[in-house]
Amino acid sequence: MDYAEGTPMTGSCHCGAVGITVPAPPDQVSQCNCSLCRKTGWIGGYWHPDDVQIDAAPDALTPYIQGDKMITSWHCRTCGSHTHWTPITAPPQRMGVNMRMFVPEDWRHLPVLKVDGASF
Ligand SMILES: [Zn+2]
Repeated sequence: MDYAEGTPMTGSCHCGAVGITVPAPPDQVSQCNCSLCRKTGWIGGYWHPDDVQIDAAPDALTPYIQGDKMITSWHCRTCGSHTHWTPITAPPQRMGVNMRMFVPEDWRHLPVLKVDGASF
């Protein structure tokens, strides 16, 4: 799908309880081999937190904080989709959104950055 400049991209978790809107597709998506990304099927797009709109009831999302406690990973309480993460410490200037919450046509043509998170 082609997006005109400034056309927001919208997605949701599997059941639809969590909606996500970003200003535009990212320049690339990230695929990481760390255990969290592998086990949650994460393919990341990254934006400044001010640029991401999460539409969900207050109790619709469940947080998960692991290991180094740098980020909070959020998943839908109803369907379990891993929707996004928000920073706890670093890097505070960005948050991650799981590109799988958008239709594949929106992002599968983008360059894939392979991240070796398992070695960090
Ligand atoms: Zn859901």
